[in-house]
Amino acid sequence: MACAIAVLAGDGIGPEICAVAVQVLEALRDQGLELVFNEAPVGGAALEAHNDPLPPATLALCEQSDAILFGAVGAPRYDALPRPKRPEQGLLRLRKHFDLFANLRPATVFPELAHASTLKPEVVSGLDLLILRELTSDIYFGQPRGIHTNAQGLREGFDTMRYNEEEVRRIAHVAFKAAQRRRRTLCSVDKANVLETTQLWRDVVEEVAGGYPEVKLTHMYVDNAAMQLVRDPQQFDVIVTGNMFGDILSDEASMLTGSIGMLPSASLNARNFGLYEPIHGSAPGIAGRDEANPLATILSAAMMLRYSLEEAAHADRIEHAVRKVLGQGYRTADIQEPGCRVVGTAEMGRAVIAALN
Ligand code: NAD
Repeated sequence: MACAIAVLAGDGIGPEICAVAVQVLEALRDQGLELVFNEAPVGGAALEAHNDPLPPATLALCEQSDAILFGAVGAPRYDALPRPKRPEQGLLRLRKHFDLFANLRPATVFPELAHASTLKPEVVSGLDLLILRELTSDIYFGQPRGIHTNAQGLREGFDTMRYNEEEVRRIAHVAFKAAQRRRRTLCSVDKANVLETTQLWRDVVEEVAGGYPEVKLTHMYVDNAAMQLVRDPQQFDVIVTGNMFGDILSDEASMLTGSIGMLPSASLNARNFGLYEPIHGSAPGIAGRDEANPLATILSAAMMLRYSLEEAAHADRIEHAVRKVLGQGYRTADIQEPGCRVVGTAEMGRAVIAALN
């Protein structure tokens, strides 16, 4: 039976890059992949049409779907709106509604783009790591929090770092399963020498490890992990960590690759239902000009096939096609270099489709 994909293109370059990713998925129909696509508005587009960044009909469509392909939301003209009306609420509410607690961000450096990194090519060329960040708990959500005046009359800010064992257990399982599909090495990042919360994190990850004897588990303190990511990033396969450490480390890792237009992501819940999106935003400055790099969205579609739809062979096909077009010299403006063939969004999509066959 065909899988149903909710396509929430959103704002700015969202519609252009989603259209290309859908074309790439449709091109796999000849090779036996059956998908049905249904579009719905989100973010600023939904605000314009329905006065709500996540209209009930959009949410209902997502509930009836097997996965969500998401473009990007936001534009300067919405920045002054009250928080509940802001475009990004569309995305935040989807994460909350579907309990998308596992954020997967691969950082891959295609050898052809190794020079785009600020690090030496020999440090990053061929890099292929996956950061798994817990997305719904930790110090970002822990109570109590606030700013008050203390007994000495000084203003004092405070937050609460908090994880319960079930929250750690479920992200650990996702991490071990991801490592099983890759090079079977998992590094859990914490600060167990200082923080009780992350001592519990480490204990629970150790317990879960018993169910995955084929995966090699190591632990690393977050300060060391930040250093190792720029010193020798190739030592990592899968990294799993909490919300705050993951926020910081995943941005650091994305910069290893040097190009925001290349990086996909997935946010999954316990049923492997997921929202798949490029890590970049709506890039309003280049919207509608056929200049946006669609590869991050195409690679997000490949992640969707791998993680939510159990179609790993088709995911491999898309990833190989992307590698092939880069090898052929196709580049969008954001990753251009001397001697390459600069193409627009639509032509890059056509090149990937041609490379599928
Ligand atoms: P951005 O990622 O949209 O753009 C940063 C820079 O990268 C810009 O120069 C842009 O032109 C370029 N860029 C981004 N994606 C590109 C692509 N695919 N191809 C070529 N170049 C690309 O970040 P920003 O400028 O900080 O934010 C713009 C809007 O996007 C804001 O409204 C912000 O709130 C929103 N935003 C949305 C998301 C999301 O939907 N998940 C994420 C980040 C930012």
